[in-house]
Amino acid sequence: MNEDSTPSNFLENIIREDLDTGRVQEVVTRFPPEPNGFLHIGHAKSISVNFGLAERFGGRCNLRFDDTNPLKESLEYVESIKADIQWLGYHWDGDVKFASGYFGQLYDWARHLVEQGDAYVCDLDPEQMREFRGSLTEPGRNSPYRDRTVEENLALLEGMKNGEYEEGSRVLRARIDMASPNINMRDPILYRIRKVSHHQTGDDWCIYPTYDFAHGQEDAIEGITHSVCTLEFEDHRPLYDWLIEHLPVPHRPRQYEFGRLNPSYTITSKRKLKALVDEAVVSGWDDPRMPTISGMRRRGYTPAAIRRFCDMIGTTRSDGIVDVAMLEHAIRDDLNENAPRAMCVLDPLRVVLTNYPADKQETLVAPAHPNREELGERQLPFGRELFIDRDDFREEANKKYKRLVLGKRVRLRNAYVIEADEVLRDEDGEITAVHCRVVEDSLGKDPADGVKPKGVIHWVSAEHGIPVEVRLYDRLFNVEAPDRGEEDFHAYLNPASLQVTQQAIAEPGLAAAQPESRYQFEREGYFVADREDHGDGKPVFNKTIGLRDTWQRMEAQ
Ligand code: ATP
Ligand code: MG
Repeated sequence: MNEDSTPSNFLENIIREDLDTGRVQEVVTRFPPEPNGFLHIGHAKSISVNFGLAERFGGRCNLRFDDTNPLKESLEYVESIKADIQWLGYHWDGDVKFASGYFGQLYDWARHLVEQGDAYVCDLDPEQMREFRGSLTEPGRNSPYRDRTVEENLALLEGMKNGEYEEGSRVLRARIDMASPNINMRDPILYRIRKVSHHQTGDDWCIYPTYDFAHGQEDAIEGITHSVCTLEFEDHRPLYDWLIEHLPVPHRPRQYEFGRLNPSYTITSKRKLKALVDEAVVSGWDDPRMPTISGMRRRGYTPAAIRRFCDMIGTTRSDGIVDVAMLEHAIRDDLNENAPRAMCVLDPLRVVLTNYPADKQETLVAPAHPNREELGERQLPFGRELFIDRDDFREEANKKYKRLVLGKRVRLRNAYVIEADEVLRDEDGEITAVHCRVVEDSLGKDPADGVKPKGVIHWVSAEHGIPVEVRLYDRLFNVEAPDRGEEDFHAYLNPASLQVTQQAIAEPGLAAAQPESRYQFEREGYFVADREDHGDGKPVFNKTIGLRDTWQRMEAQ
């Protein structure tokens, strides 16, 4: 993509100035996910910002897992996050980093704060702690444990570390200011007791630093120059700065905040997405309806389109909702350009070409892509019996209907013009087949008699077409802001977000479709061969997106 089409963002301006003035010599950023779920589209934005800035300015970007809460974290999440970043096409600098890799250093720094009189062990229980904290309008009150001696605090901290106390009975707190208007500065917790194993450090520790204590110091250890995060951490910045000032850290990172990405019709909270997985509302984190990176991947979205979308929306300090149609537009654009075409009939209706000999068979040839010759050609066997989509035939219709109508003509895509003569029905009156005639000499040209067909429909040879399973996906939620409504987000689930059809018949070439290969099924939309379900039995195709934005049309009505 060309540089000029990227909206320049305020972070780029800051970095450019920092480099120009020599405040920094090199740009070092990091993406710091907590491995407590799969990454979603919001994380893709953060990844594109952090890795993107490093790329643009010839710097480095670390991947650092902020794994300070072993209760909610797992190796499965660590692995999925790494795979997602790689799939998006980004490369982290050096080895993957872990907050847990710094636990020793962080503990030493906690001791350092205690020795300076800047931290203390507090025995208030969580309930009392909340009470003492005050509120937005009321100052907090000092803990009765705030004036313990340095020796006593060091001994208690050591005891916490050695597992001598119960979970929840004590914490280490910074000693800052219980009357601060910023609640984050009211003696925040630095360490808590958690007697659980950690996916990286096993049972080495039974106390774990809070995110607030770990985060800034990790940035300092790694020499992060521009510590980019989302706006909800703006109020934490004074605490991060306080900690950096009170500790002998090797480097001073600076934090910059931008607005979270909230696409419409989408939820971007790991906690809520996890609920959908746990409740089996979806088939898993990578269900193609999920806004997770692995879900979008399975749905057929491309890394290039996701990156393009992240660039397109810019990076700002506003927390508004971004129209998900912009993401869909980026996907359509990419697929229109790159996806080979194929024909697949979703709801087959048999067509018998009465003037085409039963023993005759042709192989027609069509381009894989209308304007990308290098993508090659497809072979389309053609015979006396075909399938067309049930929706593409009517016994009677008005002029707007440009498909097959009894007594009228239509062109079969990449093939002949046919004319419909007669319908066949079963006992229930249901149409079972349409008898048609091939108009002579109409392959790739208009009929000699001058009666042109009005439209073009897709088809598949009845003898050669292959049965496929098609999963038709739509938006998971049917309101713009599912987690900002009056009801719980479950109330806004779209009941028609998945429909599966076992009847579809596809052109024979699709039997060889590799998992994750993407196609435009002509006149139907964009589809991808499923990543997971393939190999045994019928090929499975997931609908990525329609050819046009039907939601916008529905709303306009
Ligand atoms: P969630 O609310 O989904 O749990 P999180 O912020 O807790 O998200 P982290 O794993 O802590 O998830 O996030 C890693 C990075 O991704 C952080 O820097 C965070 O600011 C950023 N991030 C998370 N969600 C979004 C979003 N919707 N838009 C932009 N950046 C995001
Ligand atoms: Mg978080």
